[in-house]
Amino acid sequence: MSSNSRRNFLRDLAGSVRDVAAAAQSVTPEEPPEELGPEIEPLADTRVERYSRQLVLPEWSEAAQQRLGAASVLVVGAGALGSPVAMYLAGAGVGRLGIVDADDVELSNLHRQLLHFTPDLGLPKAHSAAAKLGFLNPEVAVEPYQVRLDAGNAAGLLEGADLVVDCSDSFETRYAVNAACCAARIPLVEAGVLGTSGLVMGIRPGETACYRCAFPAPPPDAPSCATAGVLGPAAGVVGSLQALEALKLLTGVGEPLLDAFLQVDLALLTFLRVNVERRADCPDCGTAYA
Ligand SMILES: [Zn+2]
Repeated sequence: MSSNSRRNFLRDLAGSVRDVAAAAQSVTPEEPPEELGPEIEPLADTRVERYSRQLVLPEWSEAAQQRLGAASVLVVGAGALGSPVAMYLAGAGVGRLGIVDADDVELSNLHRQLLHFTPDLGLPKAHSAAAKLGFLNPEVAVEPYQVRLDAGNAAGLLEGADLVVDCSDSFETRYAVNAACCAARIPLVEAGVLGTSGLVMGIRPGETACYRCAFPAPPPDAPSCATAGVLGPAAGVVGSLQALEALKLLTGVGEPLLDAFLQVDLALLTFLRVNVERRADCPDCGTAYA
């Protein structure tokens, strides 16, 4: 987009927002003047208004919004990380969101898994999530997959995705997602959270270090959220970072976290960026692209 057309676009956008705000102020809830209807209609371009607060960002552009609208993203896991990830991506206007989760909503999920509410108990998380995301942004095509991703079905689930966000809670799934993304060269945002700590990593397979390059093997006897616990806001912060990195990779806006992972300690409020390099002997990305 040229600077001229960008200026025009933003001027039109600012005018639209101003006009809608002025119209809203002049309308009393009791008696809306009839003549405002036809005037508001063309201005109330719902897409422009819905995304106006990101469209006016100097870093953003109409082209970035269009890239997002054309993108297909697979979110693996609709839990503590998947909730903020899916909500922010749906809110931002990603065109298609696939939601993979085999589990049902349980009472112990609700303190951190913001897509699910008490009336959803017992429902499949993938469907509970899809329903909320549909309310949040009906423009997004949400596809629920009530299945556990594994090495056998990963390639099929990833097909057609422009980006994968791994919000799973097991190392087995994490390595399966990483291997499948490397094989299909689909960009990936990995993350994990436990207690008050977490980790985020962006990956462009074939170009930057993958998850297995950084962590060749899972830690022995890794604790789970069920045994070690997890604070809701800690998952919210890590999931929000994951959504942020996904938006960067999808739109080209900002500097994505590549060839590095971010280690987050929310008890101490410390963020440590650790650089990593691709490994020639990586079984997921090393041999495939040698
Ligand atoms: Zn690798």
